[in-house]
Amino acid sequence: MADLSTTALILVDIQPDFMPGGALAVARGDDILGPVRALMESGRFGVCVATQDWHPPGHISFASSHSGRQPLERIDLYGHEQTLWPDHCVQDTPGAALHGDLPWARVAAIIRKGMDPAVDSYSGFRNNWNIAGERPPTGLAGYLGERGMDTVCLCGLARDVCVRFTALDAAAAGFRTRLMWELTRPVDPAADATVEAELRDRGVEIIYGEQP
Ligand SMILES: [Zn+2]
Repeated sequence: MADLSTTALILVDIQPDFMPGGALAVARGDDILGPVRALMESGRFGVCVATQDWHPPGHISFASSHSGRQPLERIDLYGHEQTLWPDHCVQDTPGAALHGDLPWARVAAIIRKGMDPAVDSYSGFRNNWNIAGERPPTGLAGYLGERGMDTVCLCGLARDVCVRFTALDAAAAGFRTRLMWELTRPVDPAADATVEAELRDRGVEIIYGEQP
């Protein structure tokens, strides 16, 4: 088996609102829970960390915050395209919790994101663009570096949004970046081919199956 002692397992947004029946449901999102639990319990990774989408009420990414707009419409926000979402992962609501079926005691750090009312955050490493045209870092790259990690292994939701952006930023930050394709699920399955090509172009390794 591969030595994963300098590999961080990053669990992206595994929250009830992204599961079937949730506010921003990803089809078959719950299929990943069993294999993800097995990875967490393997004890093979140098560290396990999680991201948690964590929005204040009235967040700018919510369609309900823009009069006359519907979920999945796209608008210009600070010069970049912003998809509008149904209200989701509102702080301190059950849908925003870390999913109850996973052993979170094994996770050393939780990066909450999307807390700025006026900026979205898909990536665990950097917010989306703010009004100043910047993407402020969350500190995750520094944390992983100080923990001696040189590689990250990603799973979670959703493949074409937060997993994708987290993977691209991990690679840009200099980590060897491996994405567990089968342990993610997309909002838009039609985007799979484009997402896969983009990830490969930017140096992300795609792993199929359930073993890193
Ligand atoms: Zn969100």
